[in-house]
Amino acid sequence: MIPANDFTRQWADTGAETLAAWEAVGQRGWFVLGEEVRGLEKSLAELWPIPHVVGVGSGLDALEISLRALGCREGTHVVTTPLTAFATTLAIVKLGAIPIYVDVDDYGLIDLDQCEQLFHDRPEVRFFLPVHLYGHALDMARLRQMRDRFNLQIVEDCAQSVLAEHSGIRTGTVGQLAAVSFYPTKNLGGTGEGGAVLTSGTHLAELVHCLRDYGQISKYQHAHTGYNSRLDELHAAVLSRVHIPRLAKWTQRRQKIACHYFSQIKQDQFYMPGAPGGSISNWHLFPVFVPVAKRPEFLNHMRHCGVGVAQHYPMLAFEQPAMQSVPHELVGDCANARRLCASEVSLPVHPYLQKEELEIIVRSCNTWKHN
Ligand SMILES: *Cc1c(COP(=O)(O)O)cnc(C)c1O
Repeated sequence: MIPANDFTRQWADTGAETLAAWEAVGQRGWFVLGEEVRGLEKSLAELWPIPHVVGVGSGLDALEISLRALGCREGTHVVTTPLTAFATTLAIVKLGAIPIYVDVDDYGLIDLDQCEQLFHDRPEVRFFLPVHLYGHALDMARLRQMRDRFNLQIVEDCAQSVLAEHSGIRTGTVGQLAAVSFYPTKNLGGTGEGGAVLTSGTHLAELVHCLRDYGQISKYQHAHTGYNSRLDELHAAVLSRVHIPRLAKWTQRRQKIACHYFSQIKQDQFYMPGAPGGSISNWHLFPVFVPVAKRPEFLNHMRHCGVGVAQHYPMLAFEQPAMQSVPHELVGDCANARRLCASEVSLPVHPYLQKEELEIIVRSCNTWKHN
């Protein structure tokens, strides 16, 4: 089976350096929020570039803490997309805030036209949690215009969009805050849980520092009811010493694989919209869309051919059982999101895919005979 991610091959490449990084942490004898975390925050801030990076426990925590830092609380409405990891919704509802789901465009990204209309019609709705899904960047210039015109409080979900940009603007630089995840499957994945908050605001960065560590402003002085969302030194060390130096190469490899798929896959049943115009995608995922009724058959075919296909995402956020008793709103019927959700299939696109595996994946797509 060709896996959707291949962490054993990654380890063959990174294992020796990772063990050396961990050895250094062990020698120093400091395990939580120390020099390695500060080093990671600094490297990521320079790489992005963005003035402040604050390491936290997960991507979900990065989203929740960011919303909270902006003043989102019980009853606050937050505009977001239903086609995303459930964590996006969780960050909102854990604060007691109310998600307003807006439909997606033909690429699967939240429809900014509809968002703009909503912000125009409902001046009491000012919070926005857009997601740069699949590693495609939303139109950043437009996002900035919307922020300024409607005075929006924006947290960008950049869990999938590390290094992605649109018309020369990096994702994560227009929202007051942005969230990154270091979950192993992400483009900048680690060897465990982790995440980071990005911001240009000095005061916001201070508040996030405080919130991630029990809300302490100094030892045993709690200004806020914060979280335990502290990043481990072991995770920070592997990210900054071993994975960040490989990130550009990993991203280029994903982009090359995506190009290869576009030029080689010939399947008249596929809808492959590619990346939206202006987006330089990092190809976190490679989605293809097949007719809804034929998806089960296509999934079976690919698995039979030994290709580890996946679905992002098999269910929309508001359809989840957990949301049936939680307040939320829909704008319209989210027909596009429902359609894309029911027809998406993700092909493997990880940086350790080999040439022969790419050939198998392409051939399996091209030889699918549908009824
Ligand atoms: C992975 C992911 C998250 C959550 O990150 P965790 O580190 O798993 O908590 C949030 N949003 C999106 C879009 C994601 O893909």
